[in-house]
Amino acid sequence: MIELEEAREIVLSQVKVLAPERVDLLSSLGRTLAEDVYDDFDIPGFDRAAMDGYAVISKDTDSASKKKPVVFEVIADVPAGYSTKERVRRGKAVRIMTGAPMPQGADAVVMVEDTEKEEGKVKVFCRVTREENISFAGEDVRKGELIIPQGSLIRPAEVAMLASLGKKNVLVRTKPRVAILSTGDELVEVGKTLKKGEIYDSNSFALFSQVLLSGGEPYRLGIALDKKENLLARIKEGLSYQLLILSGGVSMGDYDLVTGVLKEAGVKMMFWKVAVKPGKPTFFGIRKDTLVFGLPGYPVSSMVNFENLVRPAIFSMLGRRDWQRIRVKAILKKTVLSRGKRKKFIRVKLIKEGDSYVAVPAPSQHSGVLKSMVWADGFLILPQEVERIEEGKEVSVELLK
Ligand code: AMP
Ligand code: MG
Repeated sequence: MIELEEAREIVLSQVKVLAPERVDLLSSLGRTLAEDVYDDFDIPGFDRAAMDGYAVISKDTDSASKKKPVVFEVIADVPAGYSTKERVRRGKAVRIMTGAPMPQGADAVVMVEDTEKEEGKVKVFCRVTREENISFAGEDVRKGELIIPQGSLIRPAEVAMLASLGKKNVLVRTKPRVAILSTGDELVEVGKTLKKGEIYDSNSFALFSQVLLSGGEPYRLGIALDKKENLLARIKEGLSYQLLILSGGVSMGDYDLVTGVLKEAGVKMMFWKVAVKPGKPTFFGIRKDTLVFGLPGYPVSSMVNFENLVRPAIFSMLGRRDWQRIRVKAILKKTVLSRGKRKKFIRVKLIKEGDSYVAVPAPSQHSGVLKSMVWADGFLILPQEVERIEEGKEVSVELLK
């Protein structure tokens, strides 16, 4: 049995970053950037008004007040998207809209709220200082600056940034193709009727969704029986993918054939048992470029070990390094007890109370109780040697979202 950190290192040491592909900007959301994106021009490319108002020489407003406004002659009108050749001189103003280029000579914009329009003129009721209400060229980004490094997840903000840099398409990592195989004679496809002793296969649905959210491309291979020939055939099919995830059949029972059949299929075992609860009997092996995970059948064990081992592998295949989940501090609502010399993953819900969060453990922490995952906002992680944490203690919770 090895510890989780060591297991994860073994997994990550086997990962190869996948090849890049070019996609249309609008298809890049949720993908991982495969190139460093530099800016090749200033944004904005010109000094522009940051407010609707009047471009003036700031000095001319020095004596302006509510009672004694200064009157300017308005020499031009510039909406956004247009410009003027007129130069602002002493006593003159250009009416200007947010985003329009500053006219020559002016060094500030008086907000429209501080003015009153008259025929061909404007009264200014308040003084402005040099550079007030101007956004300068390069204020957002400067030419030559590294804007988004490769390995970044492309979110709405990155899509917008790429658009403002004028990029029509973008280099992203190809998604790993991930085969998912459930094993067990008791499993039935959703949609069919259950007979006594049977249950629906839910693990492949959990894993499919987890793969998708991690940035991979999931494929359900269906259900394999606990029979050697059937299992071997399905495993061979799965080995043509970049990643194969099996669930069930990986412990020590008479019908737990997975580890043996994987070996027969040419999969080299890297580890089998990990010191975590839930999910000790977790297998990892490789065959050529395919990473193979054998997760325990219990629905919570399968999901938790996906989070702990498979998700970091998928992230690394995409060139992402941010697989570590965010942790938040919370006050434990109820004493937790969990025996055993393994790292434990207690499923908790976070509830806001005043300025802080309270962590409420799911009522049942058994690895067969899928409801505890539905309950959970995150994991309260108990180190190996800790078997109990008292109600009221401050804990840190690893967020699942
Ligand atoms: P196993 O790891 O095969 O011994 O299975 C452990 C428990 O998880 C058993 O109660 C199985 O019925 C259940 N189980 C195994 N695979 C699945 C699955 N795909 N969906 C739901 N439950 C499963
Ligand atoms: Mg089984």
